[in-house]
Amino acid sequence: MKGLAKGAFSAARRVVRFGGRCGQGRRGPWGGVALFALALVAGAVACGALGQQAGGAPPAAPAAPTRAARPPNVVLIVIDTLRRDHLGCYGETRPLTPALDAFAAAGTLFENCLAASSWTEPSTASLLTGLYPTRHGCHEYARLPDELELLAERLAAQGYRTLGVSGNPNASPQFGFDQGFDAFHFDDRDKAREYEDVTALVGAAERLLAQDDGRPTFLYLHVMNVHGPYLTPPEWRERFRAADARDFPFQNDVWKDVMRKGRVERRADVAPADLADLRARYAAAVAWTDHVLGDFLARRRATAAGADELVVVTADHGEELFDHGGFGHGFTLHREVVDVPLLVRGPGVGAGQRIGAPVSLVDVPATLLDLLGLLPDEAGGAIGDGQTLRPLLGGGEFVRHAPLVAHLERGKQGAAFLLQNWPLRLIETERDYAGRAGVLELFDLDADRDERHDLLASDAERAARMAAALRLHRARLAAQGLSAESTPLTPEQQAQMEALGYGAGGDHP
Ligand SMILES: [Zn+2]
Repeated sequence: MKGLAKGAFSAARRVVRFGGRCGQGRRGPWGGVALFALALVAGAVACGALGQQAGGAPPAAPAAPTRAARPPNVVLIVIDTLRRDHLGCYGETRPLTPALDAFAAAGTLFENCLAASSWTEPSTASLLTGLYPTRHGCHEYARLPDELELLAERLAAQGYRTLGVSGNPNASPQFGFDQGFDAFHFDDRDKAREYEDVTALVGAAERLLAQDDGRPTFLYLHVMNVHGPYLTPPEWRERFRAADARDFPFQNDVWKDVMRKGRVERRADVAPADLADLRARYAAAVAWTDHVLGDFLARRRATAAGADELVVVTADHGEELFDHGGFGHGFTLHREVVDVPLLVRGPGVGAGQRIGAPVSLVDVPATLLDLLGLLPDEAGGAIGDGQTLRPLLGGGEFVRHAPLVAHLERGKQGAAFLLQNWPLRLIETERDYAGRAGVLELFDLDADRDERHDLLASDAERAARMAAALRLHRARLAAQGLSAESTPLTPEQQAQMEALGYGAGGDHP
């Protein structure tokens, strides 16, 4: 019970334990197989109907596996810091992501997925628990409370072998992210290295996958090259180097200062040639990661179990490349850091679908469990704050029960909170880049996808309605929240956070 906010115990406990209690009735080897088969049939029928309505050939939903004895493996790939608009399937015009574009075409793409925060720890905690950051309390190097039930724990309880592979210390055993995993790879022995390369992480994942013991497998793979300093092999760097770019080492003092302190006056030091170089480095890292993960997914598809795996590809947050006057992530909740890709492929998931309905990373646990037939009826289609998206995958009706939100705690710099009621998005920032306090911004995402035109003054009526809703939902979530315990960092860990661009002293998330 330690770590729970006062007065919040019963509500929080009820929610976070809900799935565990419900799962007990079906525990045992492959208890969800029958439901899973039904889900496949229902999904295939619904997908066919959807295709006919659209006037084209029905989307090709993968055939139901004939091996009814074993549920499919689940592979959850998180590409840290990947901006949604840098994928071809989301509108990028440069050929950065041929593998992920092909993956999207073979599955379903969610056009409007929102991350629950804009840096790794709170956002990944939300992805793995289905709870918003206000609820799980995992901010600023606080440890994931043991009371939480992670997706890995839920799947382990259903007989899954659970494997975690992460290159990010903020999503590692150090902060409790290994809860529920049979094995968790996080290698920080090389203190001079920012993070393990995607090839090393994929290699670690494949070694763990190879130790097949007959159980279905859940793999959580969290790769890092798209995170600063955007490490790539030299030939990939050369492919994307702009002809007129000035080579500007990412980790020099100017970049460190811009990134860590968010100091608005230092942005004047970032010349156009520097910015071109920064963008080229980022693009190269996206392309390199796509290449390595494409090969990994192709090798998986060639295996007996991999042919019908349920695979999700997403990002924990994006990256600001001076879109709204800043650089990096974890400072704001603007679209370049909270709009993330969400791609799903596998049994019961139609091919070639694009779904426009707004969704959140907190929806992922309920969706995966539902697709596997492991979401109990008593859950009401929900895990924590997330809802199953399976009705959307099958072309059915879907009603969102509450507005989507995102939440950022920034130590001495204050907090930021986002509330989205499509097409409106309201962002409250306690202190912005320029040092202004209590900044509210309202955007209409239908008309202004890039969040360029703040409607707060010109649309006072909708702004007031959204502000009231934001206060209400923020208070509601806080009243149901857990309070995670902070984890003191060792000097080595502080140095590692600084190498990744995070100030570990509390002045930056
Ligand atoms: Zn991250």
